[in-house]
Amino acid sequence: MKNIVILGSTGSIGENALAVCRNLPGRFKIAGLSANSRVDILSRQIKEFRPWFVSVNNKEAGLELKSKIGTFTKVFIGDQGLELMLEDKRINAVLLAISGSACLLPLLKAIDKGKEIALANKEALVMAGPMIMRKALEKKIRIIPIDSEQSAIWQCLDGRDKQELKNIYLTASGGPFRELNRIEFKGISVKDTLRHPRWQMGRKITVDSATLMNKGLEILEAMYLFNVPVEKIKVLVHPEAIIHSMVEFIDGVVMAQLSVTDMRIPIQYALTYPKRLSGEAGRVDFYKLRRMNFDKPDLKKFPCLGLAYLAAKEKGTVPAVLNAGNEISVDEFLKGNLKFINIPKVIEKVISRHKKIRDPNLEQILRADNWARQEAHRIINK
Ligand code: NDP
Ligand code: MG
Repeated sequence: MKNIVILGSTGSIGENALAVCRNLPGRFKIAGLSANSRVDILSRQIKEFRPWFVSVNNKEAGLELKSKIGTFTKVFIGDQGLELMLEDKRINAVLLAISGSACLLPLLKAIDKGKEIALANKEALVMAGPMIMRKALEKKIRIIPIDSEQSAIWQCLDGRDKQELKNIYLTASGGPFRELNRIEFKGISVKDTLRHPRWQMGRKITVDSATLMNKGLEILEAMYLFNVPVEKIKVLVHPEAIIHSMVEFIDGVVMAQLSVTDMRIPIQYALTYPKRLSGEAGRVDFYKLRRMNFDKPDLKKFPCLGLAYLAAKEKGTVPAVLNAGNEISVDEFLKGNLKFINIPKVIEKVISRHKKIRDPNLEQILRADNWARQEAHRIINK
């Protein structure tokens, strides 16, 4: 039995991860859970899984939870809570499904403590990829990706020598606005954006999927996770979203991973690796599917993708700045304070005003992140 902590358990990935564990009784003890503030969902999860401890980031929400549940589960409040959970020696594995940059410090802590890592969050890798991968190597631990594209690449590479790799094809469904023309982008609303054609996800990543920044973040994620130069990472629009990514080897062979669009598949594989177990997700019906389509992404319609390529070439603190500019822009878009078409414009401005640090330490990354957030706010408020 593996003792596992799920950080961000109240989100879309967190709930799917619990569904995977529920379906594999006797394999995992849900030892710890965490949320930002949604204690209604958290208390339901506590009742079902009876974890040893939970951590709530928001203070009032944490106090409310304490008053709601019995004494079996210990409730920690604030940043310190995560640290205390990760310090427990009985914990074998940590699944990180906190959204955004808030995942960076818990991820570094989990690696430091030598835990097995199942990583859904992508923003932390984008911000501090080289540092994270270096630390994982030092601690001799594996970071198994959950993001479906990275899971696909991980499965296709299957531990092969990097010398054999020619290209990575990162597939993208193209999001809800793939077929709109550029003029129509002016009228895009929050409601239109939150209607993704293929995936049910948290709000932030759903907006990122519509701007294609999600694919951009995944370019950076793949570059760091698999130690591959950005020139070898090609984005391929594939609206059916059945191929989750492909790897081309130097002899011309292409390996692809195919499955239905259900995050329980990559979550389960990350938790049971290297074993494959039967799961509840659906199957691809090729007779119904009949054909798959592929296309080049349109960088004019989706400038966020071009900005991510730029950040991947620049490296240093630029990816952290790209990420912070994007997090603020998406947040302001969701609040109705920024137009969809202006999201990439804000990010571009922030990047152009940034003085890059080449090989940043954690403090410098956090400082660049903080600066970029303030700069994005300044630009939006003008
Ligand atoms: P959600 O918004 O659905 O969930 C986010 C989770 O993180 C919630 O549990 C939330 O708590 C918690 N959280 C948010 N901010 C903080 C904070 N400051 N401190 C502590 N906890 C916090 O996101 P998703 O599940 O969609 O995505 C999670 C991550 O996985 C993202 O990085 C995303 O890019 C990545 N990912 C998601 C996919 C998907 O299909 N959803 C696919 C591939 C990758 P609360 O509920 O209390 O707000
Ligand atoms: Mg993905």
